[in-house]
Amino acid sequence: MNVDAQTIGGALTGIKSALDIVKAIVGLRDGEAIRAKAIELQAVILDTLEKGIAAREAQAAQLDRVRELEEEVGNLKAWNREKDRYELLDLYRGLFSYVPKVGEERGEPPHALCANCYQRGIKSLLQTNGQNSVHEHSWDCPACKTKVKNQWRDMGQLIAKSREPRT
Ligand SMILES: [Zn+2]
Repeated sequence: MNVDAQTIGGALTGIKSALDIVKAIVGLRDGEAIRAKAIELQAVILDTLEKGIAAREAQAAQLDRVRELEEEVGNLKAWNREKDRYELLDLYRGLFSYVPKVGEERGEPPHALCANCYQRGIKSLLQTNGQNSVHEHSWDCPACKTKVKNQWRDMGQLIAKSREPRT
């Protein structure tokens, strides 16, 4: 709902109508006529109040939405800056993942991001499943639950290996 000039205009018209009725009451001498005008006045005031409350609620909802959108834009900007640090690599036989570009490590230990989550704007680090057996070992995404079997348990070695020229 839009808080527009029409809503504000409606409230002002209500106040004007109420004042007109008050002026009419001042000129009246007859008790019944005064009572009838007072009832009319009450209706106009109630209607104006309802419109005013609705307009204020609509305005509050609009402000909430603006704050939500501002937060979303901020998060998107932050993610766009962050995602630029990473590049897509094939970490040995089909474990596609985003890893920090050379020179973009910023002191962080070697790590890889889930490619699926990266594409959806979520930064999720692949974690070893901790299995010592090379046949049971996988790199898992805690966010989307992707599991990729891979015998290498050291991410630093895996990244270094994937950057060597293939033969
Ligand atoms: Zn994922």
